[in-house]
Amino acid sequence: MTALRYISTRGRAPAATLSQAIAAGLAPDGGLYVPEQIPALDPGDLPDGSLADVAAGVLAPYFAGDALAADLAAICAEALDFPVPLVPLAGTGANLLELFHGPTAAFKDIGARFLAACLRRLRDHATQPLTILVATSGDTGAAVAAAFHRVPGLRVVVLYPDGRVSPRQAHQLGCFGDNVHALRVDGSFDDCQRMVKTALADTALQAQVPMSSANSISLGRLLPQMSYYAHAALGWQRRHGRMLNVMVPTGNLGNALAALLVREMGLPLDRVHLACNANDVIVRFLHGDDYRPRCSVPTLANAMDVGSPSNMERLRWLMPDDAELRHRLGASRVDDVRIRDVIARLAQGGTLICPHTACAVDAWERLRARGIDGDWALAATAHPAKFEGIVEPLAGRPVPVPASLQALLRRPAQAEPMSAESSALAGWLRKTA
Ligand SMILES: *Cc1c(COP(=O)(O)O)cnc(C)c1O
Repeated sequence: MTALRYISTRGRAPAATLSQAIAAGLAPDGGLYVPEQIPALDPGDLPDGSLADVAAGVLAPYFAGDALAADLAAICAEALDFPVPLVPLAGTGANLLELFHGPTAAFKDIGARFLAACLRRLRDHATQPLTILVATSGDTGAAVAAAFHRVPGLRVVVLYPDGRVSPRQAHQLGCFGDNVHALRVDGSFDDCQRMVKTALADTALQAQVPMSSANSISLGRLLPQMSYYAHAALGWQRRHGRMLNVMVPTGNLGNALAALLVREMGLPLDRVHLACNANDVIVRFLHGDDYRPRCSVPTLANAMDVGSPSNMERLRWLMPDDAELRHRLGASRVDDVRIRDVIARLAQGGTLICPHTACAVDAWERLRARGIDGDWALAATAHPAKFEGIVEPLAGRPVPVPASLQALLRRPAQAEPMSAESSALAGWLRKTA
């Protein structure tokens, strides 16, 4: 196989190898890296195996010719070592694709663990450790912290808005220690993000403290997310002889892009439908309005509170024609009232779901009411125990905490306070480098 090259969505950066694109995160022209063309796959060539086996098969053409190619199977085995089951949703005919069985109980574990496995190998010969900076409003920081904990040659610095993440989330961020540092910033999530961006763009600081990011635009997080859609769709077709449709709860469109890429490669996925919360810019756009990013509004599904989805540039690259995009991708808006209603209703039937998963379930119920049927996988992006403050009062009972999350909650947690100023972060990074 010849090497696939990666180009920027903005077209003003040189083509990069996969390793270069993964190490860089963002392209130098500010665009997002995408493959020069989308590889085609024959489903019959993929193994009927574990998630890691399918991932290695689906990702092989993306890694072909790259320095990481020989390690792909090992990277998949190391990063994707937990189950992603497709579980029938009692009494409905749909299935939940449970993406939350990783160490921090949200689907971001998949991308973060894969990125860590890649970066660890790319850093093998470097002398100075690489600092991964992350601003987080909750799930991302914990997944990145868990994925990079004790990985040699790398340290993680997580910034989060003090008092604005749930106590359980704050605990998850501060409980790792070793090469993971949690900074609780006296400000908002936007302040944290601004501080990270300023630090990454500071060339003098970069020269002293080499830094990279691990946010959701990284190719190293996007690519592995294809694996669970491929695994589910292939397994479904082999068992039932039919195509699977997927419902994806959406914020920055990363998870959605992965599903669309899988379909584009020729794997047996039929409909891809997005479920958004009250932050509905993409829903309005797909329903015919102009694309108008706006400020995000807080909702119960807070990991999807995005007013300007960062992967929009990749979506436009994949389907540049608006009419085709609107024909090939559906989307629904689900507000907090409906989120509460679905969580309470499913709890009565014995199934506990998180608020993000609730968006997927509600959107699917309304498609079905409109007469759209078929076999559906509804992506369940987080374990309900991460959102116990919302789920428990609606369910009227405690949510059992998965063992991996329990283990994290039992560790002592610690975070350093920091003012919401870029100079404070720069000083801290220099002092601790
Ligand atoms: C990040 C996240 C989402 C949104 O995923 P995107 O790839 O940003 O669309 C949905 N649910 C949960 C639980 C998340 O953590």
